[in-house]
Amino acid sequence: MKYLITGGSGFIGSHLADRLLEQGHTVLVVDDLTTGSIENIQHLKNHARFQYVIDSVMNEPLLAELIDCVDGVFHLAAVVGVRLVVDEPIRTIQTNIHCTELVLKHAGKKGKKVLITSTSEVYGKSAQVPYSEDDALVYGPTTKSRWSYAYSKAIDEFLALAYYKTRGLPIIITRLFNTVGPRQTGHYGMVLPRFVQQALAGGPITVYGDGHQMRCFCHVTDVTRALAQLMESPDALGEIFNLGSDKETTILQLAKMVRARINPTIGIRYVAYEQAYGAGFDDMQRRQPNTAKIHKAIGFKPEFQLDQIIDDVAQHMGAGLSSHVAEAGSGAYMTGRRPLNVSAQG
Ligand code: UDP
Repeated sequence: MKYLITGGSGFIGSHLADRLLEQGHTVLVVDDLTTGSIENIQHLKNHARFQYVIDSVMNEPLLAELIDCVDGVFHLAAVVGVRLVVDEPIRTIQTNIHCTELVLKHAGKKGKKVLITSTSEVYGKSAQVPYSEDDALVYGPTTKSRWSYAYSKAIDEFLALAYYKTRGLPIIITRLFNTVGPRQTGHYGMVLPRFVQQALAGGPITVYGDGHQMRCFCHVTDVTRALAQLMESPDALGEIFNLGSDKETTILQLAKMVRARINPTIGIRYVAYEQAYGAGFDDMQRRQPNTAKIHKAIGFKPEFQLDQIIDDVAQHMGAGLSSHVAEAGSGAYMTGRRPLNVSAQG
């Protein structure tokens, strides 16, 4: 099969490209590099079944042409990270809604299958955990910009379901829960790469709030395996699936695990939410998926444990760090960051 991955040079998109190529598919990537990185697909550039276009999904004639020449679309292009959502609400709303609208419009014209990657954020701050796909969604007020992400992704889901119900377009929706692994950057606020970066740089690790909030982390390798399986599963059409691990960890436990595995001598610093995200930020205390539906559909069960994930991320970042130091030819590189992702808009 030939697949288009929008946002294919991002963290998850590039791992999905790896997987689809391994499975013998042909892969076409479109990415405008706003948050994706050319580094993520560098190793694929000479692959005979890989092609990429550096452009925006909002370039409609191009998008129409790309969709025309594939069998299906994995739509991953979206604004990533709470930091960016809070800082750039206009871009969040426009990108998330408009890009999905265009993908569905052109896939709809040609009857091409679309897998939409949505997010656990759509559950909002519902206290009813674990979250099941049919649960009610509970959001904060529109005056708090973080909610723009949840609302915009929920609109994407409504739109995709409407194309399925009214036009028979084959669509699948996945709600991703805290996907982590190599190539993810902490630049947009994600906790695990930030903690690993901080530990590699000699600390301290910054825990927001009291650290009792919980998340479930899933390795990107497990996630991309499921995405590829769902795309080829006839039973998945018109359905929504939670995708992630259901094993909860507090953020403080995560900080301690990262510290123990990378550098036991460093400190943990508590940072107030207002300081981290600005005044009036709502954080979710728990965010755990009910994974019964995806398990039933494709037998999904994550293989990576959290300690393996931390080691994998640390190894990848450590390699980035040492090659950067080697290139610089001195010990002057002290921030502990991997070379920053190429980002057209910072
Ligand atoms: N977090 C933290 N320190 C950081 C970055 C994030 O304690 O340096 C916390 C954040 O407040 C949240 C959790 O880690 O409670 C997960 O944050 P992330 O942005 O990775 O994902 P999300 O909040 O979207 O689940």
